[in-house]
Amino acid sequence: MYPAPFEYHVPSTVAEAVALLGQWQDDAKLISGSQSLVPMMKLRLVQPKHVIDLRKVPGLTGISESEGALVIGALTTHRAIETSEIARSRLPILSEAAGGIGDAQVRNLGTIGGSLAHADPAADWPAVTVALDASVKIAGARGERTLPVEQLISGPLTTVLEPGEILVQVRIPLPGARTGSAYEKLPHPASRFAIVGVAAAVALDGKGAVQRARVALTGVGPKVTRAASVEQALQGKATSPESVKAAAGRAAEGLELRADSTGTADYKAHLAAVYTERALRRALARAVEG
Ligand SMILES: Cc1cc2nc3c(=O)[nH]c(=O)nc-3n(C[C@H](O)[C@H](O)[C@H](O)COP(=O)(O)OP(=O)(O)OC[C@H]3O[C@@H](n4cnc5c(N)ncnc54)[C@H](O)[C@@H]3O)c2cc1C
Repeated sequence: MYPAPFEYHVPSTVAEAVALLGQWQDDAKLISGSQSLVPMMKLRLVQPKHVIDLRKVPGLTGISESEGALVIGALTTHRAIETSEIARSRLPILSEAAGGIGDAQVRNLGTIGGSLAHADPAADWPAVTVALDASVKIAGARGERTLPVEQLISGPLTTVLEPGEILVQVRIPLPGARTGSAYEKLPHPASRFAIVGVAAAVALDGKGAVQRARVALTGVGPKVTRAASVEQALQGKATSPESVKAAAGRAAEGLELRADSTGTADYKAHLAAVYTERALRRALARAVEG
């Protein structure tokens, strides 16, 4: 099926893209990697009259370290993150999550900013970035603002981005000593989207107890969700296999689990616990090494 007819715009600056968005408002859609927008246009689920391509705007790609954070341009592809030396050495969770997204075409074209803006409830980046306390820089007609990813995504395929705003950067605080993070997912056999995906990030104190834990789940609810009960259960605890298993067993608490073609709500609660335990174990092992 072909998309409905549209006009194609190629701005060369963020300001130009913002101006075009302001001009065409709800009739316009930004395009980054095209991996979610084009299928939706072909199915006529969305029919923008104007498509604004961000790919010729300089400065929106790349990964660098700045002021204690890893700064990732919104148009950086999944593949660029998967293969980034700086990501691999400083935050290997990013490379492992990127490497598990879709197939080679999706990874070569799809972008981290497009994924966060699209806010698919089974996408990987929302869980990973929420667990890492990442924030996004957003450009709009009134200037720039910064928002934690946790506040960006408000529901399935829904964000708090205003119609005229563009996500331009993802900023991830670089972890200190005795910290570790890991991502575990059960991929859907066809799309590789997460049936369940769990990102865990932990920091240990000098005695080896958990000083801070962040656990974020994707695939099992309408949007990325922090597993607050798991985080609280780990706080201040030793990292024995028993305490990790007990904490992970609370992963489904507070989740809006629904049965669908991938399984019953009970099965998903089970998966949430199992994948949370796996992610925590690997995150803790990295924290001990680091
Ligand atoms: C077969 C297949 C398998 C996939 N498997 C996975 C998977 O396993 N895990 C996973 O996480 N994802 C998966 N995806 C989704 C993929 O990661 C997409 O790349 C991603 O969701 C959207 O990124 P994009 O750059 O392609 O955005 P686009 O498709 O270009 O845009 C998506 C939406 O975001 C908006 N948008 C894009 N960029 C910006 C921006 N900078 N600021 C504001 N709004 C913006 C667009 O207007 C559009 O509404 C899969 C996709 C396909 C087709």
